[in-house]
Formats: sequence, C-alpha cells, structure tokens
Amino acid sequence: MPRRLYPHRRVRYWYSYETDEITSLFNDTGLHPQTVRSWIKAGLKTIDSRKPALIYGNDLISFLKNRNDKNKCKTAFDEFYCMKCRDARPVYQKTISLEHQGQFLRARGPCRQCKSHMCKSYSLATYPQLQKTFKLVGVSELYDCSYPTANTHLNTQDKTPPTESGQGSLF
Ligand SMILES: [Zn+2]
Repeated sequence: MPRRLYPHRRVRYWYSYETDEITSLFNDTGLHPQTVRSWIKAGLKTIDSRKPALIYGNDLISFLKNRNDKNKCKTAFDEFYCMKCRDARPVYQKTISLEHQGQFLRARGPCRQCKSHMCKSYSLATYPQLQKTFKLVGVSELYDCSYPTANTHLNTQDKTPPTESGQGSLF
C-alpha cells in the first residue's frame, strides 16, 4: 500500500503543535496520533522531552517535505532518485546495469552529481526505450572503474619489450 502524503503547506512555520493538533491538521487523511509518534521516533524534532510532545511548525514542515519527496519520487524516464542528493538525478555517463526481477527490470547507476549508487525499477515493456536512452553494461563494469580484464591485458602488452629483438638471445 502506498504511503499517504501529508501536505506541508497546511503547517504554519512559526507555530508550535501538540500531537493532537497535528492530527487535526490532517484529519481528512485519517492521520492517527500513533503515526505522529512514529514520526517523532523516525526523527521529527520535538521542542523538549515533555509529554505531550510539542513540535515547531518549521521542524514539521521540513520533516514532511523530506518524507513526501521520498514517496513521490517523480523522476523523468532517464533520471533516478538519489538518496544522497534527495532529488531526481541523471545517471553518470548514462551508464546503467539491468537485472531482471519478475515483471520488472531493476536498473542501477551512479548519480551524476555525487556518484552515489542509485536504483530504479522499470517495467519489462520499457526495455527498448532503455536501450535507446542508456548505455547498458554489466554490474561489474558499472562499479569497477579499472575494467580489469580489458585494461590489464593492454597494459602488460605495452610494457613487454618487442619480442622480435630479444628472441635471438633467448635461443
Ligand atoms: Zn547524488
């Protein structure tokens, strides 16, 4: 079940709220006091440790913004949601790996901004569009910048002196 969104615009910035005042702000969504308590456990700041808890409007706004952003995750087709940037981000060098998971394709790629690991699920039907949009590589190629098999081979060839000149002394 998708989590509900609680519009933070209803919260007044300079106001402080008790738990039941927060639930009445969002009574149309059926917000339960228990949910507010779980928000406090999840990091919503309270003014002090007194009971009932009192919460600053601005703290509630930033908590809800953050929570709603995570839920919405409105990313363009070629964007992923970066947990570190907390926003939609293009993939670094448009390079992703794909893993087939049931009805979905699990795509992974580094964030263009912070290079963090990002994931997104696409439906199987989008595969042709994914091929057009991204450069598809294996998981190992995506995260290993040194490309061990290809590069090591090339390097050793470069360092080895030409065999023709040395052959005479070997035999
Ligand atoms: Zn990022």
